[in-house]
Amino acid sequence: MSWANGYDEHWNRDVGYGVPASCDHPGCSQVIDRGLSHICGGEPHGGEEACGLFFCLQHGGGNQCARCAAGAEPFAPTPDVPCWMQHKLTDSSWQKWRDENPDEVAQLRALINKDSTNG
Ligand SMILES: [Zn+2]
Ligand SMILES: [Zn+2]
Repeated sequence: MSWANGYDEHWNRDVGYGVPASCDHPGCSQVIDRGLSHICGGEPHGGEEACGLFFCLQHGGGNQCARCAAGAEPFAPTPDVPCWMQHKLTDSSWQKWRDENPDEVAQLRALINKDSTNG
């Protein structure tokens, strides 16, 4: 599997430079991708020492986030961005995943519907 699109078993989320996401720093809404240039630790899943969450450049993406730099517990990961959920629900490359994961599909649909009613 290429790093364009993978799955992080530790944080239970899609990773790779093909995945748009917002920075995992609390309160930061900078949109990045979950590629190696944004990962804390600079290697897949953050390597041995880092959390493997994804940050914009100001918050340590590709290097270390504030928590790892301080030797503290990692930040809580931010949810996937709506456009990525939409992609998983509609893109043909995710058809197989949708067939195999009906529960997650239902969850995503519910999340997206909630978002759109909130404006
Ligand atoms: Zn970190
Ligand atoms: Zn940030």
